[in-house]
Amino acid sequence: MIVVVTLEELRRETARLARPLGFVPTMGYLHAGHISLVERARRECASVAVSIFVNPTQFGPNEDLDKYPRDLPRDLALLEAAGADLVWTPTPEVMYPPGFQTWVTVEKLTAPLEGAQRPGHFRGVTTVVAKLFNAVGPQKAYFGQKDAQQAAVIRRMTKDLDFPIEIVVCPTVREPDGLAMSSRNTYLNAEERKAATVLFRALSAAKEAYERGERDAEALRGVMRAVIQAEPLARLQYVSCADYDTLEELDRVEGKALLSMAVFIGKTRLIDNFVLGA
Ligand code: AMP
Repeated sequence: MIVVVTLEELRRETARLARPLGFVPTMGYLHAGHISLVERARRECASVAVSIFVNPTQFGPNEDLDKYPRDLPRDLALLEAAGADLVWTPTPEVMYPPGFQTWVTVEKLTAPLEGAQRPGHFRGVTTVVAKLFNAVGPQKAYFGQKDAQQAAVIRRMTKDLDFPIEIVVCPTVREPDGLAMSSRNTYLNAEERKAATVLFRALSAAKEAYERGERDAEALRGVMRAVIQAEPLARLQYVSCADYDTLEELDRVEGKALLSMAVFIGKTRLIDNFVLGA
């Protein structure tokens, strides 16, 4: 496994990799969710490249950029074991040299949900992913359903900017009790970790209501709110029952829908989602 930092090294080394090349962008502090993307890429592609970059432009001023967990030696060992061929660990200076002033923005899809709560977040994500795509030049790129809106936004950007890259969205990997794996779970203390299952419990309750025939979107949002409000350590930021493709809030669930939410457990902000009608 080759590890590179600069663009020059990256270009030299990716030129030698067999095609199709699969690419997995990450912010590091890897867990089984990330590794599932690498393993999928390994199965589907001749070579696998992974990036580790905690992208400052996708963090808001009051977010956790400074304390975002990092452990590069551990990440590299996990990636080597998962069969990655190349890991790119650019510095912020490599990604954003002095004078940087060019941004990629996806419009309507970034307005609701995460975009509404985290102004500028998706501008940072789409800009860095466009730069990563240009630098790595993969044939396939792998993202997690865990970040459902991000996956939708990246798909849109890829289409709109004519990147010749297939976007593959992989299922959310969960802990045995249902908590979606996330690098941010490490912020939770033991009591908060137990309370954090409330996202999975709320989504499961709404899915059960849907399976019993409930199609009123506000009723489904109400089921999720009630479960979250019953958890003393949880503070709801939003719940949503939206059209899967447009992410617009629904009145009734008829086609494919996305149930999603953001919840604070103490100071830690967690997100999760389920797809209905898939
Ligand atoms: P991050 O390091 O949080 O930026 O995540 C890198 C990639 O891993 C993104 O495409 C995420 O959606 C994906 N990912 C994160 N957590 C999970 C999970 N629990 N299951 C599947 N994919 C995940």
